[in-house]
Amino acid sequence: MPQSFDFRLGDLTGPRPETPDVAHTPASSAGDSRTFYIETFGCQMNVHDSEKVAGVLLGRGYRQVESLDAAKLVFYNTCSIREKAAHKVFSRLGEFRKRPDSRKIIGVLGCVAQQEGEEIFERAPWVNLVCGSASYSKLPELLEDLEAGNRRVTGLGTHTDETFETEMTRRDNPFRAYLTIIEGCDKTCAYCVVPYTRGPERSRSSALILEEVRKLAGAGYSEIQLLGQTVNSYQDPAARRMSFAELLVAVAAVPGIRRVRFTTSHPRDFGRDIVEAIDSVPALCDHVHLPVQSGSSRILRAMQRMYTREEYLEKIALIRSGRRSISLTSDIIVGFPGETEQDVEETLSLLDAAQFDGVFAFQYSPRPNTSAVHLADAVPEEEKGRRLAVVQERQREIQIVRNDALVGQTFEVLVDGASRRPGQWSGRSSSNRILNFASPHSDLLGQYVHVRVTRASPNSLVGEEVT
Ligand code: SF4
Repeated sequence: MPQSFDFRLGDLTGPRPETPDVAHTPASSAGDSRTFYIETFGCQMNVHDSEKVAGVLLGRGYRQVESLDAAKLVFYNTCSIREKAAHKVFSRLGEFRKRPDSRKIIGVLGCVAQQEGEEIFERAPWVNLVCGSASYSKLPELLEDLEAGNRRVTGLGTHTDETFETEMTRRDNPFRAYLTIIEGCDKTCAYCVVPYTRGPERSRSSALILEEVRKLAGAGYSEIQLLGQTVNSYQDPAARRMSFAELLVAVAAVPGIRRVRFTTSHPRDFGRDIVEAIDSVPALCDHVHLPVQSGSSRILRAMQRMYTREEYLEKIALIRSGRRSISLTSDIIVGFPGETEQDVEETLSLLDAAQFDGVFAFQYSPRPNTSAVHLADAVPEEEKGRRLAVVQERQREIQIVRNDALVGQTFEVLVDGASRRPGQWSGRSSSNRILNFASPHSDLLGQYVHVRVTRASPNSLVGEEVT
């Protein structure tokens, strides 16, 4: 599936999604009326949303094609977390102004759809469908409307008690399955559009989650990644009332499941029980993505993050107090309104103190429908760029040292990529480190192999298979 993985902000981020690894149906001619093309922008939640949309379409007899030209239905699953991503979507839509094709049905899905609503029809009158992520369960009805000849349909509700299940999901990766356990967000971070575009928090029942995990294990998936904007704020609506930590343990206990990940955690809701679960269950991956956003308590307050620098560092200490060595990654926003040189220094000193294994750093960009949009003291763009470079460079130095220390260690990796060069493979460790390695074996995709690290760079490791 064609995807544009854009950089992400907020707790939507986490490690970059992997390149999908699935055989696609060959492109057909443009005359085929039941073909679709979908392009995804944004985080894992969006990637998984596209898998759900693809599932709905496949279930209705559509066929996915890799070329926009060959598709009857063209869907853009959008991200509005950064201004640049939203611009990119409108630039894609603008292409249809230059090359109009009345045979195509164009749909805008996701956060930009939710945010801009019916105004998208004004800006791009050739768009036929606008559907926010909380309304994907309505896609079959919307498709029926389109198939019946209706040229403008919308699904824009968010305040819904309905489940966010879709009837079918077509997953891109044959070994690792994304699984949404909580949708929306009840927090109010000043820079974030998610509460507006995805609506309030709705958790899926533990019984349904476990049923789906059993099915996924039966279908050959060995790694499950539980998703949510604030995944650890999970509240089981079932009578069982499992805590998030209990759910992690239960998912890991499903026969056939070898690894369980979760993204993204909110620091305020991150408790000792999660660390204890990781400590006691080897199938729970030893990696936590915990966005801090700033090292300055003053800026964290302005961001409405609901913790101070000190409280965040206490969470780090809690995670590091576990028996297993848990790798830690985070997100940073630079250039939030009112951020001073002193605040940036505090962020740099937090990087030194936290010793993250990876950081996704971004420049703040004001988004509509967020409270930060009204804040004064904007940081000039050029200065934001300078601060970003400083933060990235400090983190790069940290990663050089941390990764160098891994040379000689052996990791079990799930192989999920093959290089064009024969004998070269790529996989991820439980700690979510990417290892590129050599092996004389063929057909390693989907296998778990042990790899000894022979060389380190700031962002990945190179190694060799050991038997
Ligand atoms: S509002 Fe919710 S989704 Fe957005 S950054 Fe805050 S916690 Fe994350």
